[in-house]
Amino acid sequence: MCGIIGYVGDEDAVGLIVEGLKKLEYRGYDSAGLAVFTGGGFEVVKRKGRLSVLESEIAAHPLRGRVAIGHTRWATHGEPSDINSHPHLGSRSRIAVVHNGIIENHKALRERLQSRGIEFASQTDSEVIAQLAEYYYNGDIMDTVIKVAARLEGSYALGIMCRDDPDTLIAIKKDNPLIIGVSPHGSFLASDVPAVLKHTDTVYYPEDMEIAVLRRDGVRFYNSDKEPVRKEPKTITWSVDSAEKGGWPHFMLKEIMEQPKVLRDTIRSAVSGENKDVIDGIDIANVKKIVITACGSAYNAGIVAKYVFEKLCRTPVEVDLASEFRYRDANIGPSALVILISQSGETADTIAAMREAKAKGATTLAIVNVVGSAIAKESDMCVYTAAGPEIAVATTKAFSAQLALLYALAIRFAVKLGALSPAGAEELQAELWALPDKITSVLAQVDTIQRYAASCVGYKSVFYIGRNIDYAIALEGSLKLKEISYVHSEAYAGGELKHGPISLIEDETLVVAISNCERLYGKIMSNIEQVISRGAKVMLIGRNPDAESGDKLTHIALPDTAELFSPSLSVIVLQLFSYYVAANKGLDIDKPRNLAKSVTVE
Ligand code: GLU
Repeated sequence: MCGIIGYVGDEDAVGLIVEGLKKLEYRGYDSAGLAVFTGGGFEVVKRKGRLSVLESEIAAHPLRGRVAIGHTRWATHGEPSDINSHPHLGSRSRIAVVHNGIIENHKALRERLQSRGIEFASQTDSEVIAQLAEYYYNGDIMDTVIKVAARLEGSYALGIMCRDDPDTLIAIKKDNPLIIGVSPHGSFLASDVPAVLKHTDTVYYPEDMEIAVLRRDGVRFYNSDKEPVRKEPKTITWSVDSAEKGGWPHFMLKEIMEQPKVLRDTIRSAVSGENKDVIDGIDIANVKKIVITACGSAYNAGIVAKYVFEKLCRTPVEVDLASEFRYRDANIGPSALVILISQSGETADTIAAMREAKAKGATTLAIVNVVGSAIAKESDMCVYTAAGPEIAVATTKAFSAQLALLYALAIRFAVKLGALSPAGAEELQAELWALPDKITSVLAQVDTIQRYAASCVGYKSVFYIGRNIDYAIALEGSLKLKEISYVHSEAYAGGELKHGPISLIEDETLVVAISNCERLYGKIMSNIEQVISRGAKVMLIGRNPDAESGDKLTHIALPDTAELFSPSLSVIVLQLFSYYVAANKGLDIDKPRNLAKSVTVE
């Protein structure tokens, strides 16, 4: 995920681009750049680091122009660096491009262009768009864009400038956000409304593959046959603050809602994109033991994965908190695969655990969200979650992306090990692809969950119970609640209830029970009866055909899915529940007290 912006008009384009990028920095912040038409051609300035680095550069070497495009990057292909920053130029510097998204067939396109003598400057997937445009350019930029788009696979929102047509910007999108704004002094393209809101509240939302042609005096839309398309503008009524959150009151809720797309992108990358090559390269046949080590929610993702890997691959799995693993002198050697999970890729304990594993000769595989982060660079292999930048401190979409990637890994390993038949793998693969739509249907229950959460604000203590894989996700539900709502909560395996925690159940206790394991359904229902008879109220999440909501029990039903993937659905309810409990308490949800997004100290 990144932010793109473009402007053509009467005002200082460089100033407007920098100002707009500031409003898009939440979408990506590892580097930034812009290209401005200065008369003879493009001037490009791009820098690794926060936007402030680019700003200082521009302050030191001022640039002027009325047409410009800009980008704030969240690297997916090629580490954050000056050269990998956008805009990218074609080899003859006639075309400049900013790109948000992922070009899945970038390797094939790059090789084809290289075989025709074209040299690439960066490691990004995005540069193929500029090079391809330059290659096809025949004097008509719209024809060129149509031709290029027809050859791109993946997702994109593009802002394009052509040296021969300096009063025009072209924008096109597929599966990524793009808005077009029109103001009295010029036209804008941008990834999101906040970038333009200071200048206009009138925006167009192009459909996939529609081409927007922006000029100083307005914008025209065309389909891929170059036929004009009529579009109605929308008037934005949001404030700048709520526009940054896509209209949602908090980043956390916005990020919860983004999960269907995040899962789609992550699964695609594991099955046919960049991650696939890494996954295929893992020598799982020679792995005797898998050790997963991580902190916080990433650790909980590891617990879910233990159930999935052991069931599908039959390989023994240990899960360790990174802060424990690093000091416990684990009994591992070259036959161990150590999987490190970290959203930021900078978690101090996980970095130390990785170094410990490497020192013992194990192979390390990282699952991280931030390209070019310490763990990504130092581990033997790395696969990326496609969650984009996560702003809320309490993770939601990055956690879900970790789960999806772990499922994809487990299926692939199981097939390689002969533990899963091709037909079985195909069935699970189909279930995996179906998850994003099922998450959408769980998200549609938001009103019910919100109402229920509002009635739960008074509880002092909440217990989460589940068995098997439901226990694993109960751990994440409990963590999410305490992180943002400051309500005391604990997660227990249902079978442990009688070994202690049941003594704490009384009136004014809430129990959240998760039940997706068919053969354990009777067991969890009897746990529920036990706590209800001691005064607790229960929220039951799962597929429980016989469960009926009543005075003491509220049942949130989930869609059918493969049992091993059910945590991805349960967690949506758990996230929304925690969010609304905290929201009803009026807390600072995106920045909970005492917590930081990336824990870079021990
Ligand atoms: N795939 C592009 C890159 O890595 C764009 C990433 C984005 O959308 O942030 O540069």
